[in-house]
Amino acid sequence: MKNTENPVVSIHYTLTNKAGEKLDSSIGAEPLSYLHGAGNIIPGLEKALSESSVGDKLTVTIEAADAYGERNEAQIQTVSKEMFKGMDNVKVGMQFQADSSSGPAIVTITKVEDDNITIDGNHPLAGEQLTFDVEVMDVRSATATEMEHGHIHGASCNHD
Ligand code: ZN
Repeated sequence: MKNTENPVVSIHYTLTNKAGEKLDSSIGAEPLSYLHGAGNIIPGLEKALSESSVGDKLTVTIEAADAYGERNEAQIQTVSKEMFKGMDNVKVGMQFQADSSSGPAIVTITKVEDDNITIDGNHPLAGEQLTFDVEVMDVRSATATEMEHGHIHGASCNHD
């Protein structure tokens, strides 16, 4: 089956950054399945897979703008340590989820001082050029419910 209109695509991928460091991979685990055309994966990768068929192997290099976006210095804020009251061991590198104007975002602590903590709301991969080595494992039609919900239903889906 060829990936034409909003099917469910399953891929194995290995993600590396510009320096060639491996950041993530699905090899050895379940392939990543997503609803094509629904914006469930980064735009550059979704675009590269729009004409794919089962068995296709491709290497796609994606600029930051089509991956996790450019870094935005306005996303860096210094907040009072009071905000982290009750949290033990607040330290540089800790990540947590916070609500932002554009939905849930991962926020990283980048500096801890006496009274202040600096947090960075940029995606950890913002500003990075990313390369995906991809193999298309499966392409199937989406069900009507999946289309309606805008995501796939599978083993990892926890609702009816
Ligand atoms: Zn659903």
